[in-house]
Amino acid sequence: MHTNRGTIYPKSVVNAAGVWADVIADMAGDRTFTIHPRVGTNLVTDKKAGWMVHTSMGKTPFTLTPRQLEDIAPGPVAFVKATLAAAHSHSKGIALIHAVDGNMLVGPHADEVPDREDLSTNAEAVARILASQQEVQPQLKASDVIAYFTGVRSPTYEEDFVVRRGIRCHNIFEAGGIQSPGLTAAPAIAVDIARWVVEYLQESQDVPVNPTFDPVRHCGPVLRELPLEERDRLIRQSPAYGEIVCRCEEISRGEIEDALRSPLPVYTVDAVKRRVRPGMGRCQGSFCLPSVMRIIAEESGLPLEQVVKHRSDAQIVFGPTK
Ligand SMILES: Cc1cc2nc3c(=O)[nH]c(=O)nc-3n(C[C@H](O)[C@H](O)[C@H](O)COP(=O)(O)OP(=O)(O)OC[C@H]3O[C@@H](n4cnc5c(N)ncnc54)[C@H](O)[C@@H]3O)c2cc1C
Repeated sequence: MHTNRGTIYPKSVVNAAGVWADVIADMAGDRTFTIHPRVGTNLVTDKKAGWMVHTSMGKTPFTLTPRQLEDIAPGPVAFVKATLAAAHSHSKGIALIHAVDGNMLVGPHADEVPDREDLSTNAEAVARILASQQEVQPQLKASDVIAYFTGVRSPTYEEDFVVRRGIRCHNIFEAGGIQSPGLTAAPAIAVDIARWVVEYLQESQDVPVNPTFDPVRHCGPVLRELPLEERDRLIRQSPAYGEIVCRCEEISRGEIEDALRSPLPVYTVDAVKRRVRPGMGRCQGSFCLPSVMRIIAEESGLPLEQVVKHRSDAQIVFGPTK
């Protein structure tokens, strides 16, 4: 198998290649399904708009006015606008969804596209999504939206998952056509595939259980969720938790350092953003980006010019101006 890190000779291959899973299956002689890409854009709102949809049992990460509380409690987790189009499609339709961090997601739409890697957002789709949900929640404003993201779903023409052992090659295991609800189904799919891989390998070798494997992901403290006394204790122990880097999301230097010192550190701005949220707030990183980059440079030993957004050709700075 030729990869961008040289040629490897794996004993088994798990094909979980998303929108390219049919092409990988084809390499093993197993082209029994074809993926047709379907994009969906989600709009992310400011946390201040999160009250519009919420869970009455969950905690809200900001203080509601008594009037707002009166208006909303108890509230739904999501509003789904059931349209005729949604009823006949393979998507749940466009919805207002309260995200766990307090923002609201508005979307996603579902459009068939020719390009499997087209992650562009377009004004027409954004306007369409917003307008459809303003019918559901008239208080939703365009100014509540702080970011847009587009993802590509990977449906097959059967609109079903392809989770199986290889047909022609016995050492390939397929997880193709994993469109929505693929994220929800991923843990269950992984259990089946892991079992099949072990069974296959056991035909020719011992497969001992790794006694040091820890299935629990341990994360550091999340400052904004701690009571004041707990924050105080933490900051006395380690002053880096008292240095707020991202003011919108209340993320401290200590939390960013924890992410960069984890067993699997990734030294890019987007990776740090996904793990601990600096840059996810209203200003979208306008204030904290230089500080985050400096912390990554210090922790990784990389020069500042090599601290990239998400991949090596996404350079952010090119050198000092003075
Ligand atoms: C708009 C939208 C809304 C969704 N809503 C929901 C929802 O509400 N609930 C839900 O459960 N799911 C939802 N999903 C679906 C969910 O996000 C996907 O099912 C899930 O992310 C698929 O995971 P995956 O690991 O199969 O594929 P991916 O996450 O696409 O991962 C595939 C990986 O393979 C890599 N790759 C591809 N080809 C190669 C190659 N040749 N060599 C090396 N690497 C390769 C890619 O770079 C990528 O990292 C939604 C998806 C979208 C786009």
